[in-house]
Amino acid sequence: MTQQNISTSQALFDQAQRTIPGGVNSPVRAFGSVGGTPRFFTRAQGPYLWDADGHRYVDTICSWGPAIVGHAHPKVIEAVKKAAEGGLSFGAPTRGEVELAEWVRDHLPSMEMMRLTSSGTEATMSAIRLARGYTGRSKVLKFEGCYHGHVDSLLVKAGSGLLTFGNPTSAGVPPSFAAETLVLDYNDIQGVKACFAEHGADLAAVIVEPVAGNMNLVRPAPGFLETLRDECTKAGTVLIFDEVMTGFRVGARGVQGLMNITPDLTTLGKVIGGGMPMGAFGGRKDIMLKVAPVGPVYQAGTLSGNPVAVAAGLATLRIVSEAGFFEALTKTTSELMQGLVQKARAAGLEAFSADSVGGMFGLYFSQECPKAMADVTNSDRARFNRFFHAMLNRGVYLAPSAYEAGFLSIQHQGEPVAEILQAAEGAFAEVMA
Ligand SMILES: *Cc1c(COP(=O)(O)O)cnc(C)c1O
Repeated sequence: MTQQNISTSQALFDQAQRTIPGGVNSPVRAFGSVGGTPRFFTRAQGPYLWDADGHRYVDTICSWGPAIVGHAHPKVIEAVKKAAEGGLSFGAPTRGEVELAEWVRDHLPSMEMMRLTSSGTEATMSAIRLARGYTGRSKVLKFEGCYHGHVDSLLVKAGSGLLTFGNPTSAGVPPSFAAETLVLDYNDIQGVKACFAEHGADLAAVIVEPVAGNMNLVRPAPGFLETLRDECTKAGTVLIFDEVMTGFRVGARGVQGLMNITPDLTTLGKVIGGGMPMGAFGGRKDIMLKVAPVGPVYQAGTLSGNPVAVAAGLATLRIVSEAGFFEALTKTTSELMQGLVQKARAAGLEAFSADSVGGMFGLYFSQECPKAMADVTNSDRARFNRFFHAMLNRGVYLAPSAYEAGFLSIQHQGEPVAEILQAAEGAFAEVMA
């Protein structure tokens, strides 16, 4: 297979590295783990992306989730244009924010009240502060491999030994901040019970991705989320479901609706902004009433509830709540997974598996789907990297890391999925050669 000419992307990447660290405004975009030159994009429409050298790709990232109705959907673009013509930002309240909050509450009833932010990171950072302000406690429990944005106290990993306090995963996070965070393996039910037995009275919050999507896709084991709910209720700890990735992505009611578990607080991002910068945090009214100006927990944002972002979000959410939307997206995604597994087997590859929940999916170069971070680390990441490039060269844009999940839009049904499967046939053959 002849390699693509990517000279424009290469030139832009070289230029970018002179003014932007690593040439990118968010690390995974730099292709650090798969190697090679990141593509610079100029345009997106429906399920497709076009790079600066004119190549077309089937997009399986969808901007890491938001483009769930397909890129540049006419209804979303129309809403954005209309909002923009009325002024980009007022720094004052608008009707759209109220409509969006009511729409979210109607679909995620646990979010009795909420506050809009400009990113998922702001949402999780604020939710943690709120949980601490509400409980008067400091410690937070998180799980290895879950990502909650670049919040100081959440950029931590487990130290050695069971039930240790966290070690920073980033320079610039003071060890004293990391020491406020406990870290356990995802799905470690016994670990959760032991942690609460020892530290429950000091725990302000547990924060969890209820379906993990930042160590590739990892499902919660039966009883894991239920145990978190029970232990938090007993200890008076705030249970935070970080649904920044899963909210309006796995279904119209989030993981909490799929699994029928009610968190105390929920954080949202990605799909809620429909491709514009937006996040939200919300939950129990008695907790949310601790937020300023009615309560003592400070939280604010100059561009929070930005009218253009709210318009994009509302237009997107109205489409995803149409009857049959998630049934169709879920079916398309799971059919793609089955097709990929078949193609892998046909090429003689046993160490490949795939899974999906709603419109998010995981591809693993291992015999079985992972249950925790270590399983993803132990997968054949070198083969994934070769597969990634083999697919890219065939016009399919996968997430550029074995630790990332993938995302489809409603516009991937039919031809785009067929294109992915056809590319995969060649790519699996290439990585088995
Ligand atoms: C993407 C993500 C975040 C961070 O959101 P940003 O908008 O990138 O700040 C937080 N939590 C989860 C689960 C995410 O997937």
